[in-house]
Amino acid sequence: MPTPNHNTQRVSCPHCGWEYPDPTSSRARTAWKSHLQSHRSDPSFSLSSLPPSFFTATGLHPCLTCNDPQAVYVSKSNLDSHDKRIHSHSRTKLNSDILHDLFPGSDWSHTLPWLATLDITPPPFRHNWFPRLSPTDKSLTYNTLHSLCDAVLKTSVPIADSHSDSPSSETSSEALWKLLFLFQALIFCPFKETSSFTYTRCLSHRLRLFHKGDIQTLYSHAFDPTRKTSPSRQAQSELANMLDDDDTIPISESDVTVSPRNASQAQRLANMDEYHRAVQTLSQNQPVATLDDPTITHIKQTLFPSPYPQHTPTNDGPRYNTRSAT
Ligand SMILES: [Zn+2]
Ligand SMILES: [Zn+2]
Repeated sequence: MPTPNHNTQRVSCPHCGWEYPDPTSSRARTAWKSHLQSHRSDPSFSLSSLPPSFFTATGLHPCLTCNDPQAVYVSKSNLDSHDKRIHSHSRTKLNSDILHDLFPGSDWSHTLPWLATLDITPPPFRHNWFPRLSPTDKSLTYNTLHSLCDAVLKTSVPIADSHSDSPSSETSSEALWKLLFLFQALIFCPFKETSSFTYTRCLSHRLRLFHKGDIQTLYSHAFDPTRKTSPSRQAQSELANMLDDDDTIPISESDVTVSPRNASQAQRLANMDEYHRAVQTLSQNQPVATLDDPTITHIKQTLFPSPYPQHTPTNDGPRYNTRSAT
């Protein structure tokens, strides 16, 4: 109830200083509500940055989760029903339902229990295809990754009590987090399924399996234990795999004796942290210096610096060779 000295308590908009002419009027709350909505298109306006005292003084109830002037209520019960309706604090959809919505036609009935028991290990390779994919192929993978992130977020909402007796692979987000960590290795594994496949073909094959929920097939290809070779052999075959379809990077002709092809290959190896092989590639066609007489004379002349001039020590003058000298 407004009291007489309420009239002197002026409230102004913390954002723009606007005041409602008659703060005690019953229309004040509605006026304040529509005033806040007038700031909706202002990018510098944020509902959550207004002081709580402002909402107390104006009698408004904002939803700070939405942080949107549209979600400001004149009564607490309206805010509560908004909260219940919009910000559900539990979900009734199981993991496989959420995944069906995101990947229509997929089957996760075997995949989710399998993922739930899977121990994640680093992939058995050091390189992946991502840098070699075309922008179109990259955006295809972004779409799939986006849906996967969406699944992680949606499954991270706690399950409703009514579904709490479902298996944990259907109620916990753990399996989806594992899938997110595996994503790169599964989709960009540097070994082709069939050597004649192009990157685009391999990628669309893998994305199709992913969208079907057939993660086990992807996993058994990427983490194939029968492919296990020694680390250097492995790097060798990965590199051979990548260098095979060599689209030579254009490098301008210069006076160095390295061919553009070798230079491009060396750069590629250096990009893969294979510095030793990069240097070998650069030097493989370089001429070998022959040790003939003029070369030997040149080496002997430049091997040591010229000797210092003759020096005669004297007993006079300061000595600097002991600590006590200072
Ligand atoms: Zn304002
Ligand atoms: Zn809200």
